[in-house]
Amino acid sequence: MPEELPKRYDPQSIEARRQGAWRARDAFRTPEPAEGQPRKYIKPSAPFTSGNIHIGHVRSYSIGDAYARFSRARGDAVLFAFGFDAFGLPAELGAIASGESPSDWVSRCASHMQGQLERLGFSFDWSRSFLSSDALMYRWSQWLFLTLLDAGLIYQGTGTVDWCETCQTTLATIQVEDGLCWRCHNPVALIQQTQWYLRISSYVPENDARLQELAEGGIWDESSLASQRFVLGRLDGVELDLRAPDGTLLTVFTPHSDALAEARFVAISPRHPDVERWIADPAVLEQLEELRSGGLERDSRDAEQIPLIDTGHTLPSPVTGEPMPVLISPIVDGRFGATAVLGIPSRDHTDALIAGRLGLQVDDPGEDQDMAVDEDQSKSETPTEDRSSGIGRRPAVRYRANDFSISRQRSWGTPIPIVYCEQCGAVPVPEEQLPVLLPLDLKPTGLGNPLAEREDFVQTTCPGCGGPARRETDTLDCHFDALWLWVPACVPASERERPLQEILALDDLRRWLPSERLVAGSDSGNFVFDQRIVTKALRDIGPLAFLADGEPFAGCLFHEMVIRDGRKMSKHLGNVVDPDELLGKYGADTVRLATLYAARPQRSLNWSDSAVLRCHRFLAQVWEFSLRHLTAPAPAGDAGEVKDTTEHLRVKLSTWCDAAVERSTEEMESLEMHSAVRNIMRLFDRIKDFEKRVLARQPELSRADSDALIEALTVLIKLLGPFAPHMSEELWIACGHEADTQTPWPGVSSLEPA
Ligand SMILES: [Zn+2]
Ligand SMILES: [Zn+2]
Repeated sequence: MPEELPKRYDPQSIEARRQGAWRARDAFRTPEPAEGQPRKYIKPSAPFTSGNIHIGHVRSYSIGDAYARFSRARGDAVLFAFGFDAFGLPAELGAIASGESPSDWVSRCASHMQGQLERLGFSFDWSRSFLSSDALMYRWSQWLFLTLLDAGLIYQGTGTVDWCETCQTTLATIQVEDGLCWRCHNPVALIQQTQWYLRISSYVPENDARLQELAEGGIWDESSLASQRFVLGRLDGVELDLRAPDGTLLTVFTPHSDALAEARFVAISPRHPDVERWIADPAVLEQLEELRSGGLERDSRDAEQIPLIDTGHTLPSPVTGEPMPVLISPIVDGRFGATAVLGIPSRDHTDALIAGRLGLQVDDPGEDQDMAVDEDQSKSETPTEDRSSGIGRRPAVRYRANDFSISRQRSWGTPIPIVYCEQCGAVPVPEEQLPVLLPLDLKPTGLGNPLAEREDFVQTTCPGCGGPARRETDTLDCHFDALWLWVPACVPASERERPLQEILALDDLRRWLPSERLVAGSDSGNFVFDQRIVTKALRDIGPLAFLADGEPFAGCLFHEMVIRDGRKMSKHLGNVVDPDELLGKYGADTVRLATLYAARPQRSLNWSDSAVLRCHRFLAQVWEFSLRHLTAPAPAGDAGEVKDTTEHLRVKLSTWCDAAVERSTEEMESLEMHSAVRNIMRLFDRIKDFEKRVLARQPELSRADSDALIEALTVLIKLLGPFAPHMSEELWIACGHEADTQTPWPGVSSLEPA
């Protein structure tokens, strides 16, 4: 029993005391799972090392932490840890603004953020946290690069890429918002650049096929599944074979199977395996060489500028037989993959723009006047059969998900382990020479790439011939780091310095992977899609062969963001909620509880102080009510002569408790925390109501009433454990329990001390 707990709820002292106790007993260290003990790796998102924890992080980690604590309280072995996503543009710009080296800036930010997260009481295993910018960690990126390169899944190509002149960098698709740079909001230009690409196309169909299994598995929530479908961009349609006058066949795809008669041109991806067959003119071939790239991240917004190469060939319309020009354009890639498609201007805005650029006559959809040929053919009952142009029409699928560039012309990133030698060309750095170290004293200015100006970095020796060579000065985009960022938390800190091949052989990876649940923001769809691709590649290559279905996450929850007054929070709008300020005013338990209570994870949380006030009042009442009853002297035993008039109330109370436990358990399993919180609040109302009804019948609680009430309170305290962990643990101790165990979930008899 602690000495004297203040009767008034004082979150600051409660939370400082509990956090001290957790540190002292190393409460969240990842346990060695016992034989048969369920194990869960709960994967929180890796925050950008941006300087501060914002309220969106609080929401995300409150969900994950409640689930982690719930799982531990049921006796599961839990791994709950993350690494900071410390490379990339935001960190580089932060460092420029503060005049520090990015390395100093991110370590300062990470320790500040860790302090904030600790004060919020999140139960991360900090011994396993890391910065992706540590050499010990980014060697994972370099190893992954070499492994995928060796398997033919990384290649170099010249591509048209989005370029921000202000930030002096290429941008990924997700960094372009409505044609503007995500960071500086200036217009993005298209330029030609040599890039490294990740080939995902070979695994896209499997990502599609596995989606059904994930949906049936039941622990991917609808929003995370929807994100995967969106990134996949599956298009169902038909494909048919068109025969050119010289007999050459081309299979073309269209999602508009009911509008074949309106096709006006054929567009082929520059990456189509047969594309060169359509080029006779050397000048056209030259244009193609210029265009040829691994992957373009395009969409219809670029239809007005994207390169179009006219091959000079034609193919007959599948319906009318009219000749249609054959084009080569990277616009196909971003919309359909490396394939060939029919251009149907009447159905598709992008196709209409292209037809306009080609000067093709296009019939207005719905107004077919002057198109006599179409009239004749397209309205016939069996328009696609038996044409001399050789149509074999069949259902087909294409995917928008596409290869993407992984290199950036910036200094704050993982150096790409490649050297260029005049004799040998591009040579991979041998694995035993990893990591290729990034100079830590770089001071980016925002212009160009300072890494390329560091002769001490650039000058090296060719691993092939021993002659002089120059290092690749592009770095890997932090999106590439994210491909493995979910793995190292499975490795105890004590093992981290071993060679990667030894780490990959550790039981730890087999023990914790796949992650039982990823909890991340709804903008993580691209990351997760690519993590799923690379897991399948590493399964086939060997290191992750134990993941038979190639899925990194058995379950997934995507939550929406926190907004205010219906708008995204931003400093610019002055509507930012500062977690530190809330913490100082109301305490961590209130802030966490409020973010869970205010909205279900799949809904945007429109911030209002009333949820905070409501939750604070609730916790204060639970505290005062509980202490009043837990510390009151037990009533004397009933003499027996008094008639028991409250038994039915006790039965009812116990029924309420059972129902609350049953429902909360189900809701916690499906991460519907907002419902669980509401149930718990309702249970507290019933407990207070019980006392009121008893006291309406008799002057004070009988021994049996008091026992029943304390039993119900104990259930309440246990249920609150995952949500308001500081307060519930204090009350748990006040109930007379050992000070070194956490609150168990109701129905769990005892927990082994960690
Ligand atoms: Zn920019
Ligand atoms: Zn060489």
